[in-house]
Amino acid sequence: MPFHQPDAIRYYTFGSLESEKIKHAIFTRRGGFSPEPWASLNVGGLRGDDPERVYLNRVRSFQVLDRKPESVYDVWQVHSTDVIWTTGSRPASVRHRKADAILTDRPEVTLFMRFGDCVPILLHDPKRRVVGVVHAGWMGTVNGIVTETIKTMQSAYRSDPGDILAAIGPSIAVDHYEIGAEVVGEVESAFGQDAEDLLVRSAESTHFDLWRSNEILLEKMGIRNIETAGICTACNLQDWFSHRGEFGVTGRFGALIALED
Ligand SMILES: [Zn+2]
Repeated sequence: MPFHQPDAIRYYTFGSLESEKIKHAIFTRRGGFSPEPWASLNVGGLRGDDPERVYLNRVRSFQVLDRKPESVYDVWQVHSTDVIWTTGSRPASVRHRKADAILTDRPEVTLFMRFGDCVPILLHDPKRRVVGVVHAGWMGTVNGIVTETIKTMQSAYRSDPGDILAAIGPSIAVDHYEIGAEVVGEVESAFGQDAEDLLVRSAESTHFDLWRSNEILLEKMGIRNIETAGICTACNLQDWFSHRGEFGVTGRFGALIALED
């Protein structure tokens, strides 16, 4: 079963990442302290929710997985192609750096990101003992954030793409992801021939397949093991926050990955 509910908190895991060597989870919105419209496990600090509740929600999430809250390394997610590989956690007194992919080879660090329709991609190289998490919305996808992340794993940790396990988490599915003409142009120029498989066109609108796009980018980098959850956030509001599905008034759910000693 990909869903786990040890107490009030409910989270999702990938079968292909199950291992005693790592901890990972995509947290649902269930089991937190926040009221509507952030109900309830909101970990997004920029959505109008009380910072104290957001903090308590994160602490509770970490505790469920037996990870120390102070082991967190997180960033200010800005739809860039910037990748950070870190050797330490981020103390509360230190500002977030801007980036959209984070990597570590240190078991004392817990990588954590926030999502509400954009694609979470978890990475594990069991051979080189590296974990990572990527934030890919349409901009990160067309600019290749996941490609940059795999390149960084190769250069910083000497990862072989054939060893890397990749997992694409709950996020907005093509049926709910209508895009405008400008973004259509960006997809066409980024993906060339593949764009026709990624754009679903009708007389009224064009939709974009973020899951398949990121699978293609991973495949092009030589990743063979890709698991896609296939869960649409906007279709499943009982479990997920969805920016599109809730018209921008909502929270953010967490994604966590860490090496275990
Ligand atoms: Zn949907």
